[in-house]
Amino acid sequence: METENNSVCHDCGKNIEINGELIGNGVYLEYEKGDDKINIFKCNECFEKNKALTNFQPCEVYSRVVGYIRPVQQWHKGKQQEYGERKEFKADSCC
Ligand SMILES: [Zn+2]
Repeated sequence: METENNSVCHDCGKNIEINGELIGNGVYLEYEKGDDKINIFKCNECFEKNKALTNFQPCEVYSRVVGYIRPVQQWHKGKQQEYGERKEFKADSCC
């Protein structure tokens, strides 16, 4: 069984436990920044202390647009919106 250990609290770096779509010990947050959306995890303790997004630095995300890889920042608006609607899934839940 595979465990997903790469999700950590934005504020303290603690591991966020995720089982499928359930988050065990934290929250998944979406912040608006102009046309951009910022998605992060916070553990319950940090979320109680501060619900706002602090200490944030934009980072370049690369993903496949239609057959080749480009920075998401450089995608046109329609494709960026479609990217926002994409769902992540684990390979073991398909076939
Ligand atoms: Zn935390």
